[in-house]
Amino acid sequence: MWYDPYIQSDQFWVLTLVLFVVVLFRYAIIAGLFHLIFYAFQPKRFQHRKIFKGQFKVLQLKKEMLWSALTSFLFGLAGAVMILMTREGHTKIYEDPNAYPLWWIPLSFLFAAFLHETYYYWLHRWMHRPKVYRAIHKVHHDSHYTSPWTSFSFHPLESLLQSIVIPALVFIVPMYSWTVVCLLVFMTITSAINHSNVELYPKGFHKHWLGKWLIGATHHSLHHTQYRFNFGLYFTFWDKLMHTESAKYEPDFEKHTALRKNA
Ligand SMILES: [Zn+2]
Ligand SMILES: [Zn+2]
Repeated sequence: MWYDPYIQSDQFWVLTLVLFVVVLFRYAIIAGLFHLIFYAFQPKRFQHRKIFKGQFKVLQLKKEMLWSALTSFLFGLAGAVMILMTREGHTKIYEDPNAYPLWWIPLSFLFAAFLHETYYYWLHRWMHRPKVYRAIHKVHHDSHYTSPWTSFSFHPLESLLQSIVIPALVFIVPMYSWTVVCLLVFMTITSAINHSNVELYPKGFHKHWLGKWLIGATHHSLHHTQYRFNFGLYFTFWDKLMHTESAKYEPDFEKHTALRKNA
């Protein structure tokens, strides 16, 4: 199993350091890949799907990378705590896939994502209170137009508040060990998609039975430019339920997924 004791439990900081490098690489590979495809190799091909059509300032990207490196360290720290807790039998992470019915594996993924969504939506609403916003959340919003590198660009306090959710979840929800890994990868990929500044979903997806529940680049970009709408993380249901979904979402989505004029 991925949390097997290659590194001894008394080497907490070594474990934290290893996880920091893993999280940092995961971020750099996914964000780097998005950057290469959309901005380096094929900048014109995706231009019509870009939300912000100008050039990003190098200073913005550098700042995002620095904040993201700090976030990766704090995520590594939370991961080290989770692994040690699991080794000592305090969490509900299980190794044998048959310990629970097999249908529980996908269901526990969805359930954990739902709990994470709920936690994040309300945390995010709270972080938009003026005082909290200035102290904690402004760093993320300094990226008025998001880039693939924005996905982990948070103030350390915000990173800390975000890092505790998965380790806390596994105390309550029994999860197969690899389901936890899948959830962490899902978190990174969706964050890169939502901040990529390129609408990747197909035309009409915002009205599709599944697509209308998923957040994408257009949806989250509106949060960065409008502030008062689109607080969700993975899914749109809290925004729909609480009437915080931007009225610009549908027209903007249609605009970004319209065919190229010269196509
Ligand atoms: Zn926000
Ligand atoms: Zn964001």
